[in-house]
Amino acid sequence: MVAAATLAGTVGAQEASEETPWKNTNVAGAVTEDDMFELQDDFYAAINRDWLFETQMQPSHPQENGFVELQEEVDNRLMELLEDRTLESHDAKLLQGLYDLFLDWDSRNEQGMSQVMPHLEQIQQINTLEDLTNYLLSQEALFYGDALFSFSIATQADDPTWYQLQIDSLGLSLGDAAEYEEMTFVGMMYKNALDQINQYLLQKAGYTEEEAQKVIDQAFAFEKDMAKGMMSYAQLVDPEAVSLTVNPTSMEELKELSPVYPLTEIMEADGFDGWERINLTQPKWLERMNEIYTEENVEKMKAYLITNYLQSNASIVDEETYREMQRISRQLAGITESDTDEKIAYSFASSCLSNSISRVYVEKYMTEETKQDITAIIEEVIATYRGMLEQEEWLSEETRQMAVRKLDHIKINAAYPDKWEDTSDITFKTKEEGGTLPEAMEALKRANYQKNYIGKMNQQVDPEIWMVGVTEVNAYYNPSDNSINIIAGILGDPFYSPEMSEEEKLAGIGMVIGHEISHAFDTSGAQFDENGALADWWTQEDMQAFNDRAAKLIECYDQIVPLAGDKNYSGALIQGEAIADMGGVKCMMEMAKNRENFDYDKFFRAFAKVWRSKETLEYEKQLIQLDTHPLDYLRVNMTLMQIPEFYETYGIAEGDGMYMASEERIAVW
Ligand SMILES: [Zn+2]
Repeated sequence: MVAAATLAGTVGAQEASEETPWKNTNVAGAVTEDDMFELQDDFYAAINRDWLFETQMQPSHPQENGFVELQEEVDNRLMELLEDRTLESHDAKLLQGLYDLFLDWDSRNEQGMSQVMPHLEQIQQINTLEDLTNYLLSQEALFYGDALFSFSIATQADDPTWYQLQIDSLGLSLGDAAEYEEMTFVGMMYKNALDQINQYLLQKAGYTEEEAQKVIDQAFAFEKDMAKGMMSYAQLVDPEAVSLTVNPTSMEELKELSPVYPLTEIMEADGFDGWERINLTQPKWLERMNEIYTEENVEKMKAYLITNYLQSNASIVDEETYREMQRISRQLAGITESDTDEKIAYSFASSCLSNSISRVYVEKYMTEETKQDITAIIEEVIATYRGMLEQEEWLSEETRQMAVRKLDHIKINAAYPDKWEDTSDITFKTKEEGGTLPEAMEALKRANYQKNYIGKMNQQVDPEIWMVGVTEVNAYYNPSDNSINIIAGILGDPFYSPEMSEEEKLAGIGMVIGHEISHAFDTSGAQFDENGALADWWTQEDMQAFNDRAAKLIECYDQIVPLAGDKNYSGALIQGEAIADMGGVKCMMEMAKNRENFDYDKFFRAFAKVWRSKETLEYEKQLIQLDTHPLDYLRVNMTLMQIPEFYETYGIAEGDGMYMASEERIAVW
């Protein structure tokens, strides 16, 4: 077991590391009563000192910040809507139906594992490779279990006006293939939690502790075998992955690529063989599957199917199981309480029905006025970027023109879509009608299969329908259709409210928009053209110049050790997001020039405040290893050090903690 005590042992030791003059103030408990900070030395900590010191972590939260607070506000509004039984729409009824089934403990306890066991038994009966193949070809695998590959719907890489079927590798329980070569501390945390989950679930299904351990070990051995052919997390987030994961293929080619593992037979049995546009994301994984799909490995593959099936049903069976899953995930996140059952039921229903929850939210809380206001800000940011690109000395005329063309074609998705996906074909028996949660989940799975995998086969994309929900506090740039998405969820304090001053708006939603636009021109985004098709439009010299600038930033971040005694930061992991932050603030500085009496001090303070944040040490360790965004104290301080207006506003000079000599600065844009 990975002892929480080992982790806790390093709290409080967050002294400034040699490479940055700042203390890592994002770890809960790092700022104490005696800590005082000067604006010139540690802007982030100086502005947020009282908040960092005084804010108590809620016992059910691994992290506190503006995103978490706003998400809570959005969630509370939606939970109220779920309780409002006067709502008439089909979407509201679906959500309420699932919410009620989730909270129907009497029925769930009465059912126990009874609806899960028959499907588990189908897997347990596998003894030979032939049995396994027959299982993978069955509807059981499609609607209840797993066919040993993942599939999803995406837009086609070289012509994003079409849908394509995406064949992905199987998921790994540790998330990252590299963990199976050499396990990191975070990997051990996950393995420990998963072993506990599997041990509990297997015993619940009738295995002894010893038998369960054997299944766990075999499932892990299968993952380890398979991981050898899979891309690691570092490879997947590397900009190179963009083109490496695009491998258009046909059913005939797949048949040749997979002579042993019956991939195409499964696809035929599942009705996927009519797809004309298919992409294989990881050909090496498929090669590997063909090496390990053998009689000797049947027990391992069976063990994988068993643990996977049990895990995917753990949250919908009885209460005892549900409480045990909560206990383990609390331990993993370093928190002492779980969210309320109502909150979890809401999260569950909304994640299963993201289109419905978005529609219900927008109808009640969004106005056309907000949509127009956000559209206007996005348009101004785009126009400002055009000016920035025109001034950029290191870009050649050729690349500059292509970049401007891409900018001019950006699709603006502000707040909410004008058209919604039709959900009238989704139905299931409610609690009142005697339905159960596993039955409802099966109905959703079948409806999703019909709508997406059969309904979208060889169809063109409807650009008016957004492929994602809008209630998350988030914003993103989607390279595959060249769209900027500033969704309803993020349109609240501290990012946006109609009452905010200009400075606050620019420091909040303005900077977020600028950040997202810059992703159109980062090393990943730069590989897509104005329509979202994969296309190389940079001259080689310009790409080299960009990469040289990015290398300087990577090198700078590589020196930073955010937790004393722990490993160095990975500049390669966070480069895209760090570049976007710097580009975003620079863009706001350009926009400030067009505003009379712009109050720079107010802007910088608001910016630092937007990113105030604290998290448990357990959670931060996971962020450092897996999050592509730098920790928030670095996001603010490193970004501001690149901005000349910041130096002028506060008289930052050599010797100050916030000083970086101009020749050393690392902003790409
Ligand atoms: Zn970003």
